[in-house]
Amino acid sequence: MLTNCDANATFGVLPAVLEGVCEELSGLGNPSSIHRAGQRARAVIEEARDAVRAVVGAGPRDLVIWTSGATEANNLAIRGFARVALRRSILTSPFEHPAVLETVRAVVGGGGATLRMIPTQGHELSLDAISELADGVGVVSLMLANNETGVISPMPSIVATIRRASPGALIHVDAVQAVGRIPVSFSEWGVDAVSLSGHKLGAFSGVGALVMRAGLMIEPEITGGSQEEGLRAGTQPVPAIVSLLRALSALKEGGGVAGRAARMAANRAAFLRGLGESGAAPTVSPETPTLPNTISLRVPGVAADDLVVAADIHGVLISSGAACSSGTQRPSPVLLAAGLSEHAARETIRVSVTDDADSDQFYRAGKIIAACIARLSGKRAK
Ligand code: PLP
Repeated sequence: MLTNCDANATFGVLPAVLEGVCEELSGLGNPSSIHRAGQRARAVIEEARDAVRAVVGAGPRDLVIWTSGATEANNLAIRGFARVALRRSILTSPFEHPAVLETVRAVVGGGGATLRMIPTQGHELSLDAISELADGVGVVSLMLANNETGVISPMPSIVATIRRASPGALIHVDAVQAVGRIPVSFSEWGVDAVSLSGHKLGAFSGVGALVMRAGLMIEPEITGGSQEEGLRAGTQPVPAIVSLLRALSALKEGGGVAGRAARMAANRAAFLRGLGESGAAPTVSPETPTLPNTISLRVPGVAADDLVVAADIHGVLISSGAACSSGTQRPSPVLLAAGLSEHAARETIRVSVTDDADSDQFYRAGKIIAACIARLSGKRAK
């Protein structure tokens, strides 16, 4: 049996999702067709849009644009906003996922905008710098919770600061790791767009969404048919959308975001109890708010990649950085931006638990990691 302590890479399809989807798909046509099979599919994807609005705190008039995942949703927001923004500058941070950073760099490199980078203070953004940097900015793209460290940014105050400095700025939030784990308040915070991804929530990969305020100017990335308000052409991925609807229903039935967060926190605590006095130390201070399921741990004297392989042999999935960069020779840019040395970054693992297994399993996973650490560092397991 595998223990998924790498939920931030992918949550794994929830059993309730797998069971429900196959039956539901029969009789669903192309949502653009006017016959009954098409209309049934249309009804399901509209129901899923409502569920997405609910989980991010959006209102009934806000748009939910289906995409293939969060990378595409981030591209749509950043490129689509950059093309229409009156002011040609983009504000972002070194902590962002490559789906944001590389997209911003591409827009800037193509002469579409100038770049404004928020300085970091350890694992957090320098909030004092934001007011000055946001002055007159056109587009903002920032994450709510970091995929490698779990650190949560104080979005309400960041948004308020940006709105004071540049009232017309288009603000995009990459909420991929936050949705379903901590509250997201799209309307209350007054942001313009939020990205999310199905496979981080227990649904299939192949679906994501950009939630966007209605009436905003944005240029589409993918042109063709008139699906998704003309903002994302192509037949919608109905099976993946159905899986996302099922995953969001399972979240609701399990006590919503608060229920999942509590189970995740209990599982993370059980993992840490199992880990005991292994020498692994959190890289983020306990005072810094983090996602309930994530912990970044440095293991002095042990290469993170070796630990990932050793843990895998014993059925525990962890990672040595973000899934998209682990396996590369470069140390994590996120950890370097947080002030870790290259050496320390190479000794840092990410543990990100799910809530769909019990705490005992995560306790055992912690013990397995402790034994792997002892072996790799040439010590005897305690
Ligand atoms: N943004 C963040 C913060 C992520 O963690 C990820 C995936 O790890 C993405 C964007 C990209 O999501 P997707 O895999 O749906 O393209």
